[in-house]
Amino acid sequence: AGAWAVADVTELPKMPPFDYTPPPYSGPTAAEILAKRKEFLSPSMPYFYSKPVNMVHGKKQYLFDENGRRYLDAFGGIATVCCGHCHPDVVKAIVDQTNKLQHSTILYLNHSISDFAEALASKMPADLKVVFFTNSGTEANELAMMMARLYTGSHDIVSLRNAYHGNAAGTMGATAQSNWKFNVVQSGVHHALNPDPYRGVFGSDGQKYAKDVEDLIKFGTSGHVAGFMSEAIQGVGGIVELAPGYLPAVYDSIRKAGGLCIADEVQSGFARTGTHFWGFQTQGVVPDIVTMAKGIGNGIPLGAVVTTPKVAEVLTRRSYFNTFGGNPVCTAAGLAVLGVIERENLQGNAHAVGSYLKERLNALKDKHEIIGDVRGRGLMLGVELVTDRNLKTPANIEIIRVMELMKDMGVLVGKGGFYGNVFRITPPLCINKDDADFLVDAMDYAMAKL
Ligand code: PLP
Repeated sequence: AGAWAVADVTELPKMPPFDYTPPPYSGPTAAEILAKRKEFLSPSMPYFYSKPVNMVHGKKQYLFDENGRRYLDAFGGIATVCCGHCHPDVVKAIVDQTNKLQHSTILYLNHSISDFAEALASKMPADLKVVFFTNSGTEANELAMMMARLYTGSHDIVSLRNAYHGNAAGTMGATAQSNWKFNVVQSGVHHALNPDPYRGVFGSDGQKYAKDVEDLIKFGTSGHVAGFMSEAIQGVGGIVELAPGYLPAVYDSIRKAGGLCIADEVQSGFARTGTHFWGFQTQGVVPDIVTMAKGIGNGIPLGAVVTTPKVAEVLTRRSYFNTFGGNPVCTAAGLAVLGVIERENLQGNAHAVGSYLKERLNALKDKHEIIGDVRGRGLMLGVELVTDRNLKTPANIEIIRVMELMKDMGVLVGKGGFYGNVFRITPPLCINKDDADFLVDAMDYAMAKL
């Protein structure tokens, strides 16, 4: 790792100034925490960097480590911290609600829960207005799949290869990347060709991929399906934006086969795409069920399913709720998040800064042969690294080296995609142009060092 150490770099890209000094930290060191983590936490949980960083403070788009060192957080808690770390309005909402009532259960009334449901419904098109709160994205997608099955009487669900929809029994079946799947019973889920403009067999031809879904319904099911579930931009799969025209055509086929259309907005929702509040709107479709989590609470564990009154009816056949879903502290945070996105025009900022950042990343592609593809929208951007542009050979080792060096320079980016060779840039939506420049300059510098 010595070759990539900061000391080796002569003219480091400069981090934009930021007027905040975190209070001194006196807790355990990174090494002590790592030792405990290795002993007491599941070995299934990976960590970034050969020397993992101990983050002790967050402010806006920055994180601070145990030594007070500042990092631009361009991963945003995996596309979660949309308003910026510890946004005062969100913190205040959480503290105020915590002091009033932490938990009572959905069996009693509480305005924090209903107010947030109303506000969330107001962000939705058509008659998507019935909200069910969950604790995570996985749980939201489990519920969406169950609702579609109950509503239609069919068990068959179509999802996309390369999708990530969660890691419980049903959603792991819908997830379609072998590295995220255990030996689950893959009951009733069919995986369609991924409409991936970069790696997909039909390039950017959305109609051809949509025809595959039509065939899948014809040849892989009874002709009657429960539904179709997809992200608008695949996140874990490496920021893959679905080929243009794909969703309208597929929604059409699914509805003709009696199914419901489920939009998984866990990553692409809450203004992240910049042009729209929800990712599905970028393809001009209106789903029957929308699932969400991550950005909904700026990091507070919360998820939701929003559907129409007609579809929601299916759950009235039994009692169906959970202990923590709709916890008033979480919903107070959610309401504050919607307020911040609106007041601070974070969607407009995601569009402006995201477009600028994408332009600069595309220019970087002209300079560095290792960049195979730059893609995404708003502040959900991907940079795929390849060792051979024609063969699209994944640059797995190189991406780790670039990532390590960027961290040494103070920039944190995510990494993903099926081959683990895609940078995932999903920062808080409050980053500015100077941050974008800093990120690209750091990536440029690191790539030049390869
Ligand atoms: N759906 C998508 C698109 C996701 O990216 C994720 C998580 O990364 C999930 C669902 C699962 O959400 P959670 O990790 O909150 O269970």
